[in-house]
Amino acid sequence: MSKTYKFWFVVGSQFLYGPEVLETVEKRAREMAEEMSKRLPYALEYKVTAKTNKEITDIVKEANYDDTCAGIITWCHTFSPSKMWINGLVNLQKPYCHFATQYNREIPNDEIDMDFMNLNQAAHGDREHGFIAARLRMPRKVIAGYWQDEAPLKRIGDWMKAAVGVAVSKSLKVMRFGDNMREVAVTEGDKVEVQTKLGWQVNTWAVGDLVKEMNAVTEAEIDALMDVYTAEYDIATDNIGAIRYQAREEIAMKKMMDREGCLAFSNTFQDLYGMEQLPGLASQHLMAQGYGYGGEGDWKVSAMTAIMKAMGEGGNGASAFMEDYTYHLEAGREYSLGAHMLEVCPSLAGSKPRIETHHLGIGMNEKDPARLVFEGKAGPAIVVSLIDMGGRLRLIVQDIECVKPIMEMPNLPVARVMWRAMPDLATGVECWITAGGAHHTVLSYDVSAEQMKDWARMMDIEFVHITADTTVDSLEKELFLNNLAWKLK
Ligand code: MN
Repeated sequence: MSKTYKFWFVVGSQFLYGPEVLETVEKRAREMAEEMSKRLPYALEYKVTAKTNKEITDIVKEANYDDTCAGIITWCHTFSPSKMWINGLVNLQKPYCHFATQYNREIPNDEIDMDFMNLNQAAHGDREHGFIAARLRMPRKVIAGYWQDEAPLKRIGDWMKAAVGVAVSKSLKVMRFGDNMREVAVTEGDKVEVQTKLGWQVNTWAVGDLVKEMNAVTEAEIDALMDVYTAEYDIATDNIGAIRYQAREEIAMKKMMDREGCLAFSNTFQDLYGMEQLPGLASQHLMAQGYGYGGEGDWKVSAMTAIMKAMGEGGNGASAFMEDYTYHLEAGREYSLGAHMLEVCPSLAGSKPRIETHHLGIGMNEKDPARLVFEGKAGPAIVVSLIDMGGRLRLIVQDIECVKPIMEMPNLPVARVMWRAMPDLATGVECWITAGGAHHTVLSYDVSAEQMKDWARMMDIEFVHITADTTVDSLEKELFLNNLAWKLK
């Protein structure tokens, strides 16, 4: 779904150096966009060598209205006087990256003369271009480096994915079945504020409508989905009826979401009227297909899951709804254990998931729900929580190191992930709690904290990052200053 997005390459210049220079600039800019596109996750399309206020204003208008344009990347091959950029940039509604590069890698010792200097003056032009964005207080990403090198291309690619997260966010619809879990505070939020700021359309559908849709699912449809389950997972239960029931739930939820254009959903174990099982496997397999999910009516984490999945590898990466459950506090081996009562996305799995059925005491389940059970894979990751501070949204990101769970936990009937929070478990927990982070998070192996920072900047929301270097003192100071700054904004 995200594969249709493109980025536009807008190159700054001016008339001062004559038509020949402009022809060369355009030829090179086309070549660069084509070559970079081959190594970037999304196409970079050369659009214009901008020399006038009108050209820049026109290309910005066009970008704003083109749904396939997920952002613009600018660069100044020559000097591009920046007053001509003002009228365009103040109206720009798309993510903006300034790539400070130049066509040639090296200064040619024999060839260099004043003509060469006038043509190849990105070091000069990019500073003028940078000033105007700073002067206009524009949210932007600045990336410097040679355009054929791996490092800057990787950073542009990462930024592109964050910008796709912006596009997905702005058109995101969330389907809620039931309200938030009674009395829970952190999963609440101002849906008008969220729609204004992030674009999310968060609305509710009756559980009764879902039950009606489930009753209309045919046995043939269930057979077809059972074939998919059998191919992707090990069936480790004799209770095939429970799996078929989950298939029925999945098909019905998918039909309703697709009909409404929703890419995320939430439900709650407190409202399953007319259903035999809380959707477990059903929600897990929907997440595996890129849909966001949040338990206990947590539509914020559901939306963030959908967005971060879209930002991940191939437009559906290893990001999942997660919940902090319990700690292992043995000295020197301190870990968090994350899981959920059923719904952990198999994109986190370290090996082939098993379908199991077990009794679920919590909620209104009449029968044992089927769910996928697996261990999460090892590796660096992040956990992300979006909270509503009243008047503003705060995005909290913490660096973590996932490990293969240090014990088998044979009686734990759910998928599980184990990790070490940064900077260490106790400090990490103190920081997380000080910042107000939720027990629900999106855990991601393939979206970075820098991408989430870029996303938060493009969305104009507060960003807090807990790293290996964070102390409680430094975080408290940052939160205090953030409170002041966001009051002024
Ligand atoms: Mn939960």
